[in-house]
Amino acid sequence: MPANYCEVALPVPLRSLFTYAIPENLADSLCAGSRVLVPFRNRAMTGVVVELSTRRPDPGQIKNVREIAEVLDPIPALPPKLVELGRWVSGYYVAPIGEVFRAMLPPQIDLRHEREILLTEAGRTRRAELDAAGNRSESEVAELALLSLLEIEGRPVRADRLRKLPGGEAAAERLLRRRQLEAREVAVRRRARAQKIVAWNEAYSANSSPASPAAELPEKEARVFHVLAEERGPLPLPHLAKLASVSRPLIERMIRQEKLKSWEEPLAAEEDFFDADYTPPSNQLNADQQRELSVVRGWIDAGGFNTSLLYGVTGSGKTEVYLGAVEAALARNKSALVLVPEIALTLWLGRLCRARLGAGVAVLHSALPEVERAREWWRVRRGEARVVVGTRSAVFAPVENLGLVVVDEEQEASYKQEETPRYHGRDVAVVRAKMEGAVALLGSATPSLESFQNARSGKYHLLQLDSRVENRPLAPVEIVDLREDFKATHRTGPISSKLSEAIAGRLASGTQSLILINRRGYSWFVLCRSCGASIQCENCSISLAYHKQRARLECHYCGFSRRVPDTCPKCGAEHVYFFGAGSEQLEEKLREKFPGAKVARLDRDSVRTKRAYQQVLGDFASGKIDILVGTQMVAKGHDFQRVTLVGVVSADSQLSLPDFRAAERTFQLLTQVAGRAGRGMLPGEVLVETYYPEHYAIQLAARQDYISFFEKEQQFRRLLHYPPFTALASILVRDTKIENAIRWSRQLSAFLAPQESRGVKVLGPAAAPLARLKREYRFQFLLKAPKRAHLRRALAELLAFAEQKEIPQKAILVDVDPLSLF
Ligand SMILES: [Zn+2]
Ligand SMILES: [Zn+2]
Repeated sequence: MPANYCEVALPVPLRSLFTYAIPENLADSLCAGSRVLVPFRNRAMTGVVVELSTRRPDPGQIKNVREIAEVLDPIPALPPKLVELGRWVSGYYVAPIGEVFRAMLPPQIDLRHEREILLTEAGRTRRAELDAAGNRSESEVAELALLSLLEIEGRPVRADRLRKLPGGEAAAERLLRRRQLEAREVAVRRRARAQKIVAWNEAYSANSSPASPAAELPEKEARVFHVLAEERGPLPLPHLAKLASVSRPLIERMIRQEKLKSWEEPLAAEEDFFDADYTPPSNQLNADQQRELSVVRGWIDAGGFNTSLLYGVTGSGKTEVYLGAVEAALARNKSALVLVPEIALTLWLGRLCRARLGAGVAVLHSALPEVERAREWWRVRRGEARVVVGTRSAVFAPVENLGLVVVDEEQEASYKQEETPRYHGRDVAVVRAKMEGAVALLGSATPSLESFQNARSGKYHLLQLDSRVENRPLAPVEIVDLREDFKATHRTGPISSKLSEAIAGRLASGTQSLILINRRGYSWFVLCRSCGASIQCENCSISLAYHKQRARLECHYCGFSRRVPDTCPKCGAEHVYFFGAGSEQLEEKLREKFPGAKVARLDRDSVRTKRAYQQVLGDFASGKIDILVGTQMVAKGHDFQRVTLVGVVSADSQLSLPDFRAAERTFQLLTQVAGRAGRGMLPGEVLVETYYPEHYAIQLAARQDYISFFEKEQQFRRLLHYPPFTALASILVRDTKIENAIRWSRQLSAFLAPQESRGVKVLGPAAAPLARLKREYRFQFLLKAPKRAHLRRALAELLAFAEQKEIPQKAILVDVDPLSLF
């Protein structure tokens, strides 16, 4: 018996699926995982079929069940395993199922939604009336014109066409209100985008003298000839212009003169024309790498699920192990997924993979233009690319026959999505590997407490790389006590005398310095000395940061910005002071101190595009910059050969945050940034400035002693009942009206109280650490349970209760396994 109905996940913030009837003509082309177009309220919406069923809906509902309008793709967008994974994510993270599947689907580039207007019976009558009437008001004239157009067309007309008529917009609104017109939304397919490809016209060469035509051409045209005929072959027009350093009009002219020929091709995003000059580094493995790689290979060859943690100090060459494992998966005819924590690393690793493994590599990340991302996505779905390199969301890449999932720098916070669905890419990767019988390989120099505990308890295998590539020693780390520095110099400032001397030494010897500071802007705190008030964001309970170059105060949470006040907005006094150096100030101070040096800054304010980012890193790598200042963007993964000094300014800025992961984050950041020193042939040195030199996170990071850090930190977590020893969920209750937020918090609190006796500890409600964010007041509960099943049950019951009490769904924000409580 064929399925007559199906359950569809729609991108709406509701926790339910929607039942639709399957018309007979679509029955063959539809299955679980298909993207479909369905009517939803008075719109057309794209959703995904999650389940087929032959069961008729209840008689009460059946009249409301509408039909699937269209099946969008010839093959279902999601393979069966991904449908299963989506359901798991929705259940585990208590996230609305439609929003989970929206995150899994490719961007919709082939569909456009349009509003169409139809004439109703009442509209026809109105037109006849107006037509017959003798003298018409201006608005009646507009209505008549509009109704007549629809009558003559005899079919629905696009809303924007009607708007162009004189007075058309207002007239349409009136007629819609009176139901003389009807509006509906439809989806329209888009034409595929094309690009112009240019090639040298051989016929032109044949007509010229027998020698190379290059000799006879003007210089610029000769360059075009060289690139097209001798170096690269046919190219997209913009690439050609760039490679030959000529203008587009010059190329257009050569096309008209028939020196070149051109044609249109569909836009092919997978081609990266700048790959060709790239030589991958050699892949000689040392004994450590070989030993651990052969273990992983053994698992891949054997098939079946297992998870391992590859723990290797910074610079120990984990990437080579990943690449070897990917090769092993491909050799078994399986596919591989490689997740990295940031976009810049996808470019680097994508290129490395392509150079090593050939064209079957796709790169997926959120910053790709939608057209490109869709194209890469579908290449993966059709099996044309069997290796996917990407950021968090690539964990949902539609590869089939998965053999290997790699999660590089598994401890990175960027794997956690901080908006619905709030999943953790690393944890979903492990679940996916389990569902598909694949090998999961997590790598880190500073593993998360969770992963290392899993390795300790035997849930994961532990693989280890103990030595750095070519046995380069780790750079020595020295802690600079800022209190002592102040006693000696009586100056406070971001740069201690020790750091200053060290930088001067590097400038004299012609090597480079990398300085990390964890705050953006010029000053991160603005205070009135008269009344003691800090100048806060209008929408959030947080001090604004001062940005000197833009001469603005800005909120780093919601983007609010205002001009810098001359007087205190609270009391009118003129004593407004700026505290706490940020990256902008540090850059300025370094320029003052070292006027001859070339100083550059890398943070979200100074580089706003991918290109600018690569430019700065490229200039630094090639030695055009002496001192690079940056936020944690500079801490990750890059290999700089001539960096001999790494300075960390206000290393302790995170330690004061009310967050159980503060010490772990500080340790990770310091260890990673220290690992940037001495990666080339030159030995390195690291200076860490702090007001808390005795804190264990700073002491142990200075010794790069992960194991001792783990031992110490895990004791605290165990004692205070935090992950990895307790399952944790954070619940925020939020609303722009504080009365609502309080009332709902009270209701939930009363409901949660009895949970204490059922294995779930409830903390709160308390004002959230950010008590107001983006105009919403926020109250927080923390739920802790030694057994995850208890936590899950409590959350499910809580949401059901909230629904019953008609607390709006968007007012309750559940975060399972939160990474930050801030
Ligand atoms: Zn004041
Ligand atoms: Zn704000």
